[in-house]
Amino acid sequence: MCWSPAPSAKSFSFPEASARRPPRVPVRKLSVTILFVGRITLEKAYPGVAFHWRSRNWWARLTRVPPECVHLQHEATWMATYIPDTLFLRGKASVRRRPARPEVSLCRACLLAQLEVELAAHPGRIVAFEPDSSSFTQYFFVSTPDFAAAGLQPETATAISRRLGLPSGDCDACELPAAWLWISREEVANLDDVGHISMARGQSLCSRHGARRLCESLGGISEANLFYVNVPYGEAGAYLWI
Ligand SMILES: [Zn+2]
Ligand SMILES: [Zn+2]
Repeated sequence: MCWSPAPSAKSFSFPEASARRPPRVPVRKLSVTILFVGRITLEKAYPGVAFHWRSRNWWARLTRVPPECVHLQHEATWMATYIPDTLFLRGKASVRRRPARPEVSLCRACLLAQLEVELAAHPGRIVAFEPDSSSFTQYFFVSTPDFAAAGLQPETATAISRRLGLPSGDCDACELPAAWLWISREEVANLDDVGHISMARGQSLCSRHGARRLCESLGGISEANLFYVNVPYGEAGAYLWI
């Protein structure tokens, strides 16, 4: 992950496929298809997102190609596989909210529109690490109780948990209490660097400004092919990248 895009990354081994960096073009086969999507319809799961009809027909379902927003017909440099309610514990899918919304492929604008609303509404505490735009392929939230099961190294998990447990004061951008700690790549480039995780000043932000900060960071990346993005769940946790 941020500490190293190579398979030698020590802190985090999840998901296993992450060691391979995909090309910067949409690669549908890399997406992880969730089979137990429940009964929730696309329209109900993602109001406001227009999905291309061809990605919703019988052939797409048969071949398990996730529905994609209409913009991906013309946008080849930025896409993300959004699997909001599912966590992967060492590569194994584990639903964190039911009914789980179906896996979909979204362009940058559609992803960020979904994410910002979700993140701003989440009441829990979040430590979010800025991803390395040149190498990340996944950006995902793991709650504190799932750190070990998700493969986070114990020292890193302890350091992040400590940060989550500290009083956070007020938001740097408004008067509201802070719920987020945004940590830039300059402060922590590598999650093996437990010392910097413990000491990084970061930006304390309320949910709304934390959501905006994360979306600004992702939105400022000119090319991306993310094959896993989820949303927060639980009382506290971290946004990590690999
Ligand atoms: Zn779109
Ligand atoms: Zn704020």
